Amino acid sequence: MRKTLRAVLAAVALCGMAMAANAPAPDFKLEKLGEGVWAAIGSDSGKAGANAGFVVGEDGVAVIDTFEDPGAAKDLLAEIRKITPMPVRFVVNTHYHLDHVNGNDVFAAAGATILAQRNVRAWMRTENLKWWGDKIKPEVKARVESLKLPDVVYDQGVDLYLGSRKIEVRSYPGHTGGDSIVYVQDAGVVFCGDLFWNRHIPNLIDATTKAWISTMDTLVGYGAGKFVPGHGEPGTALDMKAFQQYLVDLRAAVAQAQSAGTREDALVQAVLPQMQAKYNSWGYFKEFAKSNIQQTAEELAGTKRRPQPAESATSATPTVPYLPLKVRLGEKAPDFSLPATDGSMVRLSAFQGHPVLLDIYEGFW
Ligand SMILES: [Zn+2]
Repeated sequence: MRKTLRAVLAAVALCGMAMAANAPAPDFKLEKLGEGVWAAIGSDSGKAGANAGFVVGEDGVAVIDTFEDPGAAKDLLAEIRKITPMPVRFVVNTHYHLDHVNGNDVFAAAGATILAQRNVRAWMRTENLKWWGDKIKPEVKARVESLKLPDVVYDQGVDLYLGSRKIEVRSYPGHTGGDSIVYVQDAGVVFCGDLFWNRHIPNLIDATTKAWISTMDTLVGYGAGKFVPGHGEPGTALDMKAFQQYLVDLRAAVAQAQSAGTREDALVQAVLPQMQAKYNSWGYFKEFAKSNIQQTAEELAGTKRRPQPAESATSATPTVPYLPLKVRLGEKAPDFSLPATDGSMVRLSAFQGHPVLLDIYEGFW
């Protein structure tokens, strides 16, 4: 997520526009990582804004992320069409940030079902407004507030099948609190979304770096040969470890500056040279290095603002006791008791709005 304003203005302009007849080359490059497994690598300054990818199975295609720009998403769909005529059945959004979801409508119009971790649906049309603050233009606001939301949400993950080809989608904490990876086991490829930035400084605006560091261990533990980042080139476990080390170094440098009593700007100035010495060559250093320091200082001080998670299915599911109670038409249902989970008896009445399911064999009473 960078140079967002310019990119999204371009996106908004493009989405109302038909593709030019002689469209230029796509704003990303395709890289084949295995049989039917492709990464679409965006450039740092291009309108695609991030990486995407797709997996071709026996009876369809699954797409991972949809770029920052609907025009780039259309280009991706066109590239998929050159490789296979099979339908795009699924799109997985790895997280809610605009550079990974702004082409959702392109794939939805092509018939795809869009899936994401529950928080992505909760945050996509609201949290994405924050990139502009109160200077947001009405057309940009309207675009964000009409982004195509996921049709299917999950808490921990979901398995997708393209015929016999299995794709594992799993959620992990660290980057936003609503991120997923897409694991194609038969090809040894993990699409990491923004849980992995290869030789690029990450966007930490929503991050919990402590959780992220252990998530990186989990992801390396997949033992895959290729890890596709949200930004940067596909990498290996060594690149994953280098990114994890960045988070470790950042936290250590910030913690040291805090214990030396520095705060705010002075803290940034104290930490920046250390990070510069080791990571100056990484992409987005200018864009994110300072805010990474500030945001990590907030995290360590316990003052960091993070998006509120959506209520999970587990906590939202009411526990409705099922009782095979027979009630005749016109007959008052009796009060009754049932055992609570702690072993005590709870007295309930079927007439007082309690969530009790009854077998009614002669209509309502
Ligand atoms: Zn991104």
